[in-house]
Amino acid sequence: MQRRSRRAAILVAGLVAFGLACAAYSLNRRSNDAAALEEAGRTLHRLISQRVDQHDAHLTSLSALVQAAEPAPVATVEQVAASIVRFYPRIVGIDVVDLGLSPPRSLLDAADPAIVAEEARQAVGSNLRTRALDGDKLLLVKRALTDGVGHYALALVIDMNRLSASDMPLPEGAQVQLQLIEQGRAVNEPAGAFSADIASRTQPLRLTLTTSAPNWPLPPLGFLALAGLVIALAALLVDRLLAARSAAQEAARKAVLAEQDARLAHAGRVNAMGELASGIAHELTQPLTAILGQAQAGRRLLAQPDADQAVLAGAFEAIARNARRAGDILGRLRAWISKSEPAIETVDLTELAGEVVHLLAATAQSAGTTLRVVGDGSRPLVRADRVQLEQVVFNLARNGLEAVEGRDAERSVIIEVGTQGGDAVLAVRDSGPGLSPEAQVRLFEPFFTTKPAGLGLGLALCVRLVERFDGTLAAENAPGGGAVFSVRLPRIADQSQREAAE
Ligand code: ADP
Repeated sequence: MQRRSRRAAILVAGLVAFGLACAAYSLNRRSNDAAALEEAGRTLHRLISQRVDQHDAHLTSLSALVQAAEPAPVATVEQVAASIVRFYPRIVGIDVVDLGLSPPRSLLDAADPAIVAEEARQAVGSNLRTRALDGDKLLLVKRALTDGVGHYALALVIDMNRLSASDMPLPEGAQVQLQLIEQGRAVNEPAGAFSADIASRTQPLRLTLTTSAPNWPLPPLGFLALAGLVIALAALLVDRLLAARSAAQEAARKAVLAEQDARLAHAGRVNAMGELASGIAHELTQPLTAILGQAQAGRRLLAQPDADQAVLAGAFEAIARNARRAGDILGRLRAWISKSEPAIETVDLTELAGEVVHLLAATAQSAGTTLRVVGDGSRPLVRADRVQLEQVVFNLARNGLEAVEGRDAERSVIIEVGTQGGDAVLAVRDSGPGLSPEAQVRLFEPFFTTKPAGLGLGLALCVRLVERFDGTLAAENAPGGGAVFSVRLPRIADQSQREAAE
């Protein structure tokens, strides 16, 4: 659950980061586009301003040529006009209109004489007039004064598209527009575009650069894939780091719990020592009596002059064997109450159950209870801390012995060891009264006890220890009466592996 909510939070953060990356890209791209448009606009503006000045110069020189003689030297003017048009393709027509005739007449047939005459009439002195013509053309008209009288009008027809054309590459989607600023008519100016007036007294033009690029340009697929990949990797890293941190915290928490359990378990074992003492003393009596008997017999043999060496050696051997047995009993006891560091190892469940039966044999015997191990022949192996697992089985067996204590019917506690599915199962079955309805519900709660001197910690500890070895502990009443406590643990090896391990 915790892991799922952590992943959900990382996913949301990742999506937000992805969205921010896309927005940052769009913003950056937008400002770059705007800067490129501005730059292109300024360059074009400079270029057009120069070209416009050239028109003035052409008109001035043509005007001088027309004024050079009376009548105007049409052939010369035509020649000059032809070479201007050839060199300046944006100038698509040059004309000279004789205003003295009625109607006015075009000398070079390049412009409408009526329109030129109309503009020339409105031109005061030698002022220049501009007029927009159809097809993106611009008409420039200048009166040429001869003898102080404006007999002729000069006209240049300019292609506006060519006027604003250049070799310079424009930003993607950019469109150039050049318009004549006509008095009293507003020039439409789109937002977000570059716009500047050409600083010419004679040709009032406005240059506008618009762009068809979207306001929020979508990042290209490559960027999306890269951003997605980087964010996904970062999210994975954060997830791993957080998982590692929570695993470390969990491990620390478990270590503290394990430490507490180990202390509790040790206290429980030391406590059980008192109960076991009489049984152990009884168990020790046998080898000690045997040792004493063999030692006395040996001494008697030595007193004889022709003592049989072989019989003597046999007595010493029996002494040594019984001393080892006594040592084993004490060793088992020492191991039981030792405060060893927890260590996970391969444990043979049947053998472990046998150890517990050994420890409790005297107690069971004095209470007249049958206590034994029954195996199904599979002898399963598990991974566990031997001392802790032994304590679990010990607690269950002791609870069983206490449950049958004083009962009139047959008293037995049987430890069944076998395999179910892939698991190793150890069940402690007693012939006691079974679990009371309250016990069935609260059995594994710490401090739940129905015994006058009970602590109610035994089963709670057992559950935690078994879970530490990835196992489970369950309790139920057997159909034929009595309680059954089942420890289920992952079985680590099959028969052949077990034999190999042995
Ligand atoms: P304690 O033995 O100190 O009471 P446990 O945790 O071992 O603590 O057991 C809790 C309670 O569970 C016991 O007091 C008893 O009521 C019940 N119980 C445990 N084992 C058995 C059993 N084999 N048969 C019936 N009741 C049992």
